[in-house]
Amino acid sequence: MQQIADEFHLPLGQVASVVAFYAFFSTQPLGRFHILFSNCTSCGYLANGENLLQLLCKQLQTSPGKTRADGLVSIDETSCIGQCDHGASLLVNGVPIIGLNPEKIAQIAQLIATAIPLDAWPAQWFEIRDAVHRRELLLTTQPAPGSALRQALKQGIGETLAAIRQSGLRGRGGGGFDTGTKWQLCREAPGDARYVVCNADEGEPGTFKDRVLLRIHAEALFEGMALCAFVIGATRGFIYLRGEYRYLLPQLQAALNRRRDQGLLGGNILGHAGFDFDIDIVAGAGAYICGEESALIESLEGKPGIPRIRPPFPTTHGYLGQPTAVNNVETLIAAAHIVAHGSGRFNAAGTPKSPGTKILSVSGDCRSPGIYEYPFGVRIQQILGDCGAGDAQAVQIGGPAGKLIAPADFNRAIGFEDLSTGGSFLVFGQQRDLLTIHRNFAHFFAHESCGFCTPCRVGTQLLKNTLDNIAAGRGSACDLKELQQLGQIVQRQSHCGLGHSAANHVLDGLQQFPQTFSSHLKQSFSARFDLDQSLASARQLTHRGDAAAHLDNG
Ligand code: SF4
Repeated sequence: MQQIADEFHLPLGQVASVVAFYAFFSTQPLGRFHILFSNCTSCGYLANGENLLQLLCKQLQTSPGKTRADGLVSIDETSCIGQCDHGASLLVNGVPIIGLNPEKIAQIAQLIATAIPLDAWPAQWFEIRDAVHRRELLLTTQPAPGSALRQALKQGIGETLAAIRQSGLRGRGGGGFDTGTKWQLCREAPGDARYVVCNADEGEPGTFKDRVLLRIHAEALFEGMALCAFVIGATRGFIYLRGEYRYLLPQLQAALNRRRDQGLLGGNILGHAGFDFDIDIVAGAGAYICGEESALIESLEGKPGIPRIRPPFPTTHGYLGQPTAVNNVETLIAAAHIVAHGSGRFNAAGTPKSPGTKILSVSGDCRSPGIYEYPFGVRIQQILGDCGAGDAQAVQIGGPAGKLIAPADFNRAIGFEDLSTGGSFLVFGQQRDLLTIHRNFAHFFAHESCGFCTPCRVGTQLLKNTLDNIAAGRGSACDLKELQQLGQIVQRQSHCGLGHSAANHVLDGLQQFPQTFSSHLKQSFSARFDLDQSLASARQLTHRGDAAAHLDNG
């Protein structure tokens, strides 16, 4: 830290605050083999990940969160690593191994115990298969490299922006802001420079579609970023890549280099004088909050990813205080398709308020987890049928921050007018205890809260503790009331989207599946003392005798 502070002329405390903020930085030495198990609901809990973690710790004679005394290995947990379609998974020195089972764990333990270097481990373990089960507009083809850019240069900025606006393209992260409006606002905002930022920090447990898009459709993404740069007048762009996808860096860098060689990035793109644009990739370091666009920009600037107060929005005050268009991977790929093939083809699919298609990451208790692309408006029932989950007890749309849906609502539709989602589609079979799912979600948010504002920092901890208490058989009816009130406070009073959505699952669960909680409650308590009576002296001191100065015992 001191070396970095000296090199960049920064106070040591500033560097230390960054190190303390991000989960992938450590002030303690890690093992030569550093293992991070995913503890996400999908590739952790539903896939028996916790037992496999304990098994590996036992076989290597260590425990979670520790580095073994000989420095050979450290094992810990992390939030979702984006491999939810492949069962229990881990990262070893940043590289994923999927499909864990007791036999594979025993082999991994043996390889580590004998200090076999990673490149001599079975090569097939590191092959990530992308199961794409359903393709529509975006996944069927990729625009030929440069085709959308040539079209944009031919028709000019005005018509290119008009095509995006006519398509009705809305942000695919779940918020659904109109992309054409965002680009226009950014273009019109005063500033010395403009920036394009691709949010490739999908961290919502149960989401892995960007992993597939970055591996297979990177060309379309780069094309979409260059189009955005052309429209808003940017010369520099960034891909903020989640730290768990760091292993994709070499192939992404190679694809960028190819585009530079083809004249699709760099100076005078496609021979067009003055159209200069290039892209840097910046890797995150294990902070879910950096998926929030203003936190992402803070992180890009080398700071802890604490969300900014908005407004002003990034379109006018983004990276380095300059106008910045932040779009997610799927949105930028869609933009490339729209310009290459026309807006009519795009908005012929979907619904009037949600034109186009949505790519879903389907995982959990289903026969065929993987990627599914549907026109907006598709019903949950159809998706469940397609992925082989006929007897689902519930579905979580949009990850822990999204919506818990009971069977009575399986006729609801994916779309901005009904169920808006960033893409996570988690299926829970009849055999699952939903309280364990809620606890997993609550632990996730308590861990990922950045701590900036009190309702979220304290509220997520209290939600977690209360759910743990109920699960341990120490809950009473009062706890359900407490969960409801707490959930509403966290939802309404928090500073950013993480807090606004952190209690959604609890509030949905209390409404849709009350028996999940009530069946674990302790049925009778005898009061040890009269709390209202014990406050009598306080009432006397404050001259209060009115009803509001008494506790509601209801
Ligand atoms: Fe941080 Fe949570 Fe507050 Fe967002 S809501 S600023 S994540 S503490």
